Amino acid sequence: MTVTQYDYKEELNLFMKFLDEEKNKCFGIQMNQETTDCLEFGPFLKHTLNNLGDPFTGKGGHLHTFNYEQKLVHLMSELLNINIEDAWGYYTSGSSISNLQALHFAATILTNNATLITSEDAHNSIIKAAKIVRLKNVIQVKTNQQGEIDVEGFENVLRSIGKTEKLIFFFCSGTVSKGAYDDVQRLLDVIDHVGFQKENYYLHLDAALGGLITPFITNDELILDFRIPQIDSISTSFHKRLGIPVPGSIFIIRKSVLNTIKNIPFIADYSSNDSTIPGSRDGLSPLITYFKLKKYGFEGMVFRTERVIQKANWFAEKLVENGIKKVLNNKYSPCVYFEAPKNEIINEYHLPIYNNKDGIKCTHVFTMEHVSENQLLKFINKITNS
Ligand SMILES: *Cc1c(COP(=O)(O)O)cnc(C)c1O
Repeated sequence: MTVTQYDYKEELNLFMKFLDEEKNKCFGIQMNQETTDCLEFGPFLKHTLNNLGDPFTGKGGHLHTFNYEQKLVHLMSELLNINIEDAWGYYTSGSSISNLQALHFAATILTNNATLITSEDAHNSIIKAAKIVRLKNVIQVKTNQQGEIDVEGFENVLRSIGKTEKLIFFFCSGTVSKGAYDDVQRLLDVIDHVGFQKENYYLHLDAALGGLITPFITNDELILDFRIPQIDSISTSFHKRLGIPVPGSIFIIRKSVLNTIKNIPFIADYSSNDSTIPGSRDGLSPLITYFKLKKYGFEGMVFRTERVIQKANWFAEKLVENGIKKVLNNKYSPCVYFEAPKNEIINEYHLPIYNNKDGIKCTHVFTMEHVSENQLLKFINKITNS
């Protein structure tokens, strides 16, 4: 019998060509699509690298990269200012899963009678996670024009809740629509002032985007990490800022908080504590992510962060110069928000449409590495000539 193999070479070549061209116009998502330097990890595709279970207690019994995953947890712990001995974490397939992991732990500690308090600009994964863990109460606090949790509105919400209620706070470092940073310290002052005790609440920081921005803003103007002692856990994505070929994120929690969870079973099948939501996990990505972060180094990331933020400032100024309305560029954010152009342009540049608070349709651009100044100027030309 002769077996004919399906020949996909030509189709793949065409698809590659399409991707190479289309990439330059992917303006609308908070993702660095400059990943060409990851090609050097290609040879590892000949192995199945499966980080099954907990990277710290898991033993494997198969090929894995637990060692590099641990190093990555340590490296990110240092960047997020927690002692490596005090941190536990693991690599997930994206911050949606990291957020779910956080809410799963929070609801395990405080029960699902706890109330989740987050913002109306919070990522959709948070509300979805609340449904998955069957949380009974969810409150989405209004945001201000910049997209940060409105502090007064937040205080009013807290005043309407009994002081002994269990609360789960999800604040954000780098919101999706406007790249806003919640003023966590001020929100904590309110929590304190209204009279909630730490043992009655859990605080997670969704830093999917900001987790790889704020560590590289060296003037300490944005303190959004474990230096804030009330923060229990943080999620940070790697495909958003670092640029890796497969989406990935890290979830980090204080060990002292994790240790309050007593009933984590041990799984004999793969010799691991069952502390992670997924069983099988991508082992190649932690390897790529670790080496890419090491290669760029701290100074390199500071430079890259400055570059994308300066590009955003520049682009925002250009939009204003060209008469485009509703331009908003939060300080230290690679996100520029503005009035939405015509639909053809929205579609061509893969942009989302937001209903602004005043009813005007808006959109945003993230000035990541693969988005060039030239492309941005072309884009503005298209808007002004349309
Ligand atoms: C992207 C993002 C997420 C979700 O991350 P995925 O990697 O897409 O699952 C969560 N929160 C914020 C603020 C994000 O920007």
